[in-house]
Amino acid sequence: MGSLTDMVFRDQVDWVDPLTKMFNTLKKQGYHLIGSHAAVKKCLWVHNALVYNKFCYKCRFYGIESHRCIQFSPAVSWCWNSCLHCWRARPFDYGLEGPELIRLPYVEDPEFLAEMAILEHRRTVSGYAKRTSREMYREAIDPKHVAISLTGESTLYPRLGELIEVFHRKGLTTFLVTRGVRPDVLSNLEEEPTQLYVSLETWNEEMYREFNRPAGANLWRLTLQTLELLQSLSTRTVIRFTMIKGYNMRSEDVGGFAKLIDIANPTFVEIKAYMHVGASIGRLSRSSMPSYEEVMEFAEKLAKATSYKLVSSSRPSRVALLTRLEGPVVRYGKGCPKAWEEKDVEGEKYVEEYK
Ligand code: SF4
Repeated sequence: MGSLTDMVFRDQVDWVDPLTKMFNTLKKQGYHLIGSHAAVKKCLWVHNALVYNKFCYKCRFYGIESHRCIQFSPAVSWCWNSCLHCWRARPFDYGLEGPELIRLPYVEDPEFLAEMAILEHRRTVSGYAKRTSREMYREAIDPKHVAISLTGESTLYPRLGELIEVFHRKGLTTFLVTRGVRPDVLSNLEEEPTQLYVSLETWNEEMYREFNRPAGANLWRLTLQTLELLQSLSTRTVIRFTMIKGYNMRSEDVGGFAKLIDIANPTFVEIKAYMHVGASIGRLSRSSMPSYEEVMEFAEKLAKATSYKLVSSSRPSRVALLTRLEGPVVRYGKGCPKAWEEKDVEGEKYVEEYK
């Protein structure tokens, strides 16, 4: 039974609100929390670029200089989905659900978030001054790109358009990744991102409910609305399909995903393997992770089914790129060193080692 003090103390210790519990976990995982709802976390490819001169697949596809990329989220503990393949900390797993998830408790100023994101990125690379070349280090502390993805649903930050505008004004390009649950926010952005991603694993409501575990009954309908909306945006758009072996790589899935491409007519389609890492390993097996060859085979089928062209791929990241664009793909930033392409197989080792 133990003493009264023990009981009171234990109850106090045990009762930590879900948000604080999640923040404590994120801090242990290396997240640099910003204000009451945002965070920066160093991406493995920032490390690989600075230490091994190996760059992420977005370097090859779009010329993103990985060591100058800020991995950022304006809504780190807020998401309306609890996807089975999610390798990050899901709010749902910390008891955050219902009204707590609907909106952020407080809305930080976009200028403050942008300034802090740059400062925190510099802190995450400050330890590399002696582990990389002077030029790479000088570039790393002068970031040129923000990946507004990391974790959580960024469109739940109500001043997202203003934040994107601030980052652009500071000379950074922005890739925004969303699950598409807020077409209302995406259609009213003060400024569109440099590139907008919609991340999907399913192509009908039944699969969506089973795999993406939506917090609301109308989220599949809203996701379809977002796909319809993509055609009206002026920025480059991407649908990224995450492939889970034994789940969404059948022949009928080719037709299902092709229909979504038809609705959205995105600039690019990325077909990327699910990676058996992080929190997802408790929900999916290692055999759910398709190989590079299996991803390429599915990509070729989808290209045939949609008249999109297969234009590039990355073996280490098990991802293929389709596009409807003619001619070479415009690349931002300085792009990756040529060598990276030749040593494709070699890259595999670096990914494994870093995890
Ligand atoms: S673009 Fe994505 S993968 Fe590449 S360095 Fe930035 S966060 Fe990492």
